[in-house]
Amino acid sequence: MTDAGSAGATGLSAVAVPLTANPAEVLEKVSFSADGLVPAIAQDSANGEVLMMAWMNAKSLEQTLLTGRATYWSRSRGELWRKGETSGHLQTVEQISLDCDGDTVLMQVSQQGPACHTGTRSCFTGRVVASAADRSDEGGQRA
Ligand SMILES: [Zn+2]
Repeated sequence: MTDAGSAGATGLSAVAVPLTANPAEVLEKVSFSADGLVPAIAQDSANGEVLMMAWMNAKSLEQTLLTGRATYWSRSRGELWRKGETSGHLQTVEQISLDCDGDTVLMQVSQQGPACHTGTRSCFTGRVVASAADRSDEGGQRA
């Protein structure tokens, strides 16, 4: 039973700190796709709201672990991007989980400002395209 010891990490909200002493151990557990990517979901640690989803490769996940700031891989630009680097809307990562088969990353984050580049709180805010209420319209049509 080893313990990393008390690093005196108090007040995590403002200051980003590394999340683990050994990113390699985390990376080993992740099941990356054939093109080396894994979807990463950012969730507001305060209320559980799903803020956004983006892609990570091993390098961006490592950077996230080392810096405590959510860092993604831009498929369109082919480069790492630290969330908020240009907008100031940083995501300070408080906890990272993998799903049951290790192919999805879930991050609990402290989000500064809007998470979406369009300015909405989350990437899903105001973008409902279907809801259970729609069923009443079509339910009688099918045999
Ligand atoms: Zn968005």
